[in-house]
Amino acid sequence: SKQTGKNSYFFYDDNQDAVAIEHHRMVHRFRQALAERELVLHYQPKVNMRSGRIMGAEALIRWHHPERGLLPPGEFLPAIENDAVIEDLGDWVVGEALRQVATWERAGLTVPISVNISPRHLQSPRFVERLERHLRDAGRLHQSCLEIEITETAAIHDLRHITRLIEECRALGVPSALDDFGTGYSSLTYLKLLPVHTLKIDKSFILDMARDAEDHAIVSGVIGLARAFDLIVIAEGVETTDHGLLLLALGCDFAQGYGIAPPMAADRFLEWARHWRP
Ligand code: C2E
Ligand code: CA
Ligand code: CA
Ligand code: CA
Repeated sequence: SKQTGKNSYFFYDDNQDAVAIEHHRMVHRFRQALAERELVLHYQPKVNMRSGRIMGAEALIRWHHPERGLLPPGEFLPAIENDAVIEDLGDWVVGEALRQVATWERAGLTVPISVNISPRHLQSPRFVERLERHLRDAGRLHQSCLEIEITETAAIHDLRHITRLIEECRALGVPSALDDFGTGYSSLTYLKLLPVHTLKIDKSFILDMARDAEDHAIVSGVIGLARAFDLIVIAEGVETTDHGLLLLALGCDFAQGYGIAPPMAADRFLEWARHWRP
């Protein structure tokens, strides 16, 4: 009836309001968290499964919430990723990652760190300028110690802008990886246009690869594609020895996942790296 239709319309609207209020509250709380230094980066290694070499570490944000404990990004990113605070977070992450590179180096570990940059932050006109400032302050221009991870969806949303941005970052010595590859809608044409250095195969394909012929075909296809385009290809979500063996058989040497190591606090990462044997 008309009445029901109206009610459901209002129900939907109220619900949207509730979500907006909740997000607003979270943004406010998150600003405090940044100011109070409640955020911390954990690091997950990316390794060459053939040589055992550690090729990098991905920085993954965690929130030491005073009441709720250690929160993974899924608990707060959705609420803040469309607010300007996501730019402040990204800025902090870049600075923190550069400090970590230096700290590890003093401890004898040289490993580049990749940081996740959210779509909204990539759109910010000051992104490259801020990145350059951070690199300069850290004395790290053109030193290949930082990499950015961009999701496929963010990249094709504004192809011209992102293409230029990737080139500008590369000119500063910061290569780009296309994250979650395979889950978006990018065509081969987009891939050809985007000057990225690395493809990260989304973990959903890796996790199902052993029992799902289609996922196996996708993984195999992406590896072939990467080779044809002269890109590095990394598999994420490598949880088992089987995953590793399948990937090696398909020609993908680089992997990241719980089967190698989980994301770890910086000190634990250093310990892990000292004892790691493939
Ligand atoms: P992502 O960039 O795809 O990061 C990989 C996620 O997979 C991480 O979840 C990691 O802990 C998890 N993972 C690693 N190995 C395995 C595995 O073997 N199996 C499975 N099932 N999962 C694995 P996490 O840390 O919860 O991060 C979730 C997402 O939050 C990230 O996905 C990324 O999109 C976003 N994120 C994390 N840190 C940041 C950040 O500093 N800034 C921004 N903008 N986004 C971030
Ligand atoms: Ca990532
Ligand atoms: Ca990913
Ligand atoms: Ca499937």
